Amino acid sequence: VMASMTHLQEEKLRLQEEVLGLQEKLTARENDELSHSRQLQGQVETLKAKLLEQAQEIGRLHSELGCTDAEKHRDLLAAENERLRQEMKACEGELRELRRRQQAPCQDCAHLQENRELQERLSQLQQEAEETRAKLAELDLEVQQKTNRLAEVELRLKDSLAERAEEEERLSRRLRDSQETIASLKSQPQQIKYIIKTVEVESAKAKQALCESQSRNQYLQEQVGMQRQVLKEMEQQLQSSQKTAAQLRAQIVMYEAELERAHGQMLEEMQAMEEEKNRAIEEAFSRAQVEMKAVHENLAGVRTNLLTLQPALRTLTHDYNSLKRQVRDFPLLLQETLRSARAEIGQAIEEVHNTNRELLRKYRRELQLRKKCHNELVRLKGNIRVFGRVRPIMKEDGEGPEAANVVTFDAEDDAVLHLLHKGKQVSFELDKVFPPQASQEEVFQEVQALVTSCIDGYNVCIFAYGQTGAGKTYTMEGTAANPGINQRALQLLFSEVRGKAADWEYAISVSAAEIYNEALRDLLGKEPQEKLEIKLCPDGSGQLYVPGLTEFSVQSVEDINKVFEFGHVNRATECTNLNEHSSRSHALLIVTVRGLDRSTGLRTTGKLNLVDLAGSERVGRSGAEGSRLREAQHINKSLSALGDVIYALRSRQGHVPFRNSKLTYLLQDSLSGDSKTLMMVQVSPAEKNTSETLCSLKFAERVRSVELGPVSRKAELASWPSQEQLEVTEGPLEPYLFPLTPGSAPPGRGHASPSPGQLSSRAASIRRKLQTSG
Ligand code: ADP
Ligand code: MG
Repeated sequence: VMASMTHLQEEKLRLQEEVLGLQEKLTARENDELSHSRQLQGQVETLKAKLLEQAQEIGRLHSELGCTDAEKHRDLLAAENERLRQEMKACEGELRELRRRQQAPCQDCAHLQENRELQERLSQLQQEAEETRAKLAELDLEVQQKTNRLAEVELRLKDSLAERAEEEERLSRRLRDSQETIASLKSQPQQIKYIIKTVEVESAKAKQALCESQSRNQYLQEQVGMQRQVLKEMEQQLQSSQKTAAQLRAQIVMYEAELERAHGQMLEEMQAMEEEKNRAIEEAFSRAQVEMKAVHENLAGVRTNLLTLQPALRTLTHDYNSLKRQVRDFPLLLQETLRSARAEIGQAIEEVHNTNRELLRKYRRELQLRKKCHNELVRLKGNIRVFGRVRPIMKEDGEGPEAANVVTFDAEDDAVLHLLHKGKQVSFELDKVFPPQASQEEVFQEVQALVTSCIDGYNVCIFAYGQTGAGKTYTMEGTAANPGINQRALQLLFSEVRGKAADWEYAISVSAAEIYNEALRDLLGKEPQEKLEIKLCPDGSGQLYVPGLTEFSVQSVEDINKVFEFGHVNRATECTNLNEHSSRSHALLIVTVRGLDRSTGLRTTGKLNLVDLAGSERVGRSGAEGSRLREAQHINKSLSALGDVIYALRSRQGHVPFRNSKLTYLLQDSLSGDSKTLMMVQVSPAEKNTSETLCSLKFAERVRSVELGPVSRKAELASWPSQEQLEVTEGPLEPYLFPLTPGSAPPGRGHASPSPGQLSSRAASIRRKLQTSG
């Protein structure tokens, strides 16, 4: 065993040595292999680089071949062509536009010929362009063919390159395999022997493969050579095609130049045309501008007009609309208004009617009441009133004791007056006493109520009583500057009548008469001398009337003045001394007021008798003779009769002796019944007139003191004292006679006495005036 052991150990050592040797061999082999593979790798690397180079070369050749350039050029040309086509189209459009524009305004214009020529030239150019385009298309085709051939060559080159790539791939794969085998051999030492053997085998195989690849490489190199040959050929071909392309390019440049030229020409022509067109347009524009300016001006005018008209139109429209609305609404409104108005009017009428009825009723009651009151008043006061008026002392009264004032007044009582008679003061009480300073106005104030009552249908008498020169005429007629009761009464009547004109219709008329020696004469008549008769009305009413007594209708103060003047003139015509005559006669102014109440139809008639009585002075029986005595008797009789009548009326006697004188008979209607009488007793304050003043005042007091009372008392009362009785009761007084000579007339108004002839003609003319106005 030991031996074997030793043997084995020896064997082992030998084997170990052998392994070491083998290992060394393997390492060498490996190194060999590594270097070989490195060599192969380097070869592959160089081949790869060569391939890359070749590919680059091919790319370069490919780019150099100009195939892309030609394409680019072709593309450029095509783009240019397209641009030209676009431009041409635009030109054509412009041309068409131009033609359309120019066709209407300048049909036979000179530009037409030029235009046609241009058009021909254009069509020629277009034809040329067409030809160039055809040539271009041919060239395009050629380039296409060449490109196709080049593509074929490229394809073949690509195939060979792919083959080479495949071979290389295979070789690299085998190299990787052998490397792997070596690695596995290294990792498995126990199999080393086997592996070594395999490696030996493999190595042989590898040597063989190397040989094969070397031969393959050879072949490939041959192939590359061949390819290079082909490439050279192709390069030659490329050169020739490049030459052709250059030629074509030159041709294209030429065509382009031609095209450029044609384009330039066309542009020029177009420019010219454009200018022409612009000129024409400018001309047309300037013309149009002028026209436009005119139109603008017109328009501005129209616009201003429009602007001014617009507000008016607006307001008009507004008005029109509102009016239309109103008109539309009007019938309705009208109907409505009419209906309401009718209703209102009806109601108002009804109301007015009712009120009227009521008023009428009240008015009638008022009338009755008034009448009743009046009657009551009359009953209480008596319808006869007595006033006294004292005239002032005048120059005509002279100087000294004869002209001394003998009349004084009571400061507290305006109805009392004192007379100094034979050293004694005799007092008288009347209804009212007017002192010398009392104005016409004041006197009339007291009288006017009486005057207006005649409007209501009452008869009124106002008498002026007193000795001659005591102021009767002054009170009744007054002076022109200071009129008396007559004129004031008529004025008042006119104004009263005017105030009542709304309801009443009034007619005022006047008559003037004179009673001298118991004869009645018409002072307004044609024949003043004619004596008038007082007669009973034939209608049996018991009323009296004077046939032939003139009655003038008066409407104004002017009418009255004419009437008065006429009366005076008439009166003066008939006598030689007016003052003397007037003092011996009674002058009557009779105013008749006839009224008609329009609403009731009531008629009223009132008479206002204004009487200026004859002088009341007593005429001594001893001294008076003939006509003078007759006058005195008549005056005495008539004044006594007036006294009797007033007495009978106041004492309400059954029989009133109206018929005792012409005056009372004439005034019968105006003294009886509801009539009112005012006796204005005029006195002179002068000492020399004391006895006459005394007589007048006694007359006044007696008239006034007739007591109102039961009828039974009337019989007891003595009858009214006559003028003579007045004398008797006063005792024997110096008879007083007016001097018969005109120069020594008693104080009066001092009328100038014109000749009878002058007066009669003046009277006739005034009468004519009156008749025409009346
Ligand atoms: P009779 O008519 O009574 O005879 P008159 O009226 O003629 O009196 O008056 C005589 C004179 O006295 C006239 O000149 C008149 O002017 C004047 N006279 C009368 N009364 C007045 C008076 N109240 N105021 C002023 N003068 C008067
Ligand atoms: Mg007189």
